[in-house]
Amino acid sequence: MTTDPDCLFCKIAAGQIPADVIASSEGALAFRDINPKAPTHVLVIPTGHVASLAEVPDDGGAMLAELVALANRVASDEGVGGGYRVVTNIGPDAGQSVGHLHLHVLGGRPMAWPPG
Ligand code: AMP
Repeated sequence: MTTDPDCLFCKIAAGQIPADVIASSEGALAFRDINPKAPTHVLVIPTGHVASLAEVPDDGGAMLAELVALANRVASDEGVGGGYRVVTNIGPDAGQSVGHLHLHVLGGRPMAWPPG
């Protein structure tokens, strides 16, 4: 597994920086966003370092499936049955501020489309 010693989310995955972890699977972790944009706002990350969705390797399908499974489990556990949004930002123009792949799981309020 690849880790980046300078990466914030690698440090959270390693337990070196505290986070409000609510769920995990073998290679994925879910924790609450520190600056929530909805009543439910959870980040789902691979424990290994991947910079963004654009950097997923050709053999990354199982890793992505694990992220999606954990995101759906979190949404179910959070009770956001009215609907939820799973989004990942890629690069600065899209608003990516942490260079470690993460799925935002947002729910608990109505959401507009398209996003701003
Ligand atoms: P993005 O802007 O798409 O890269 O999303 C990064 C997210 O990480 C933002 O929503 C931040 O609020 C969140 N974030 C930054 N630092 C932390 C932290 N230490 N613990 C939890 N969430 C964080």
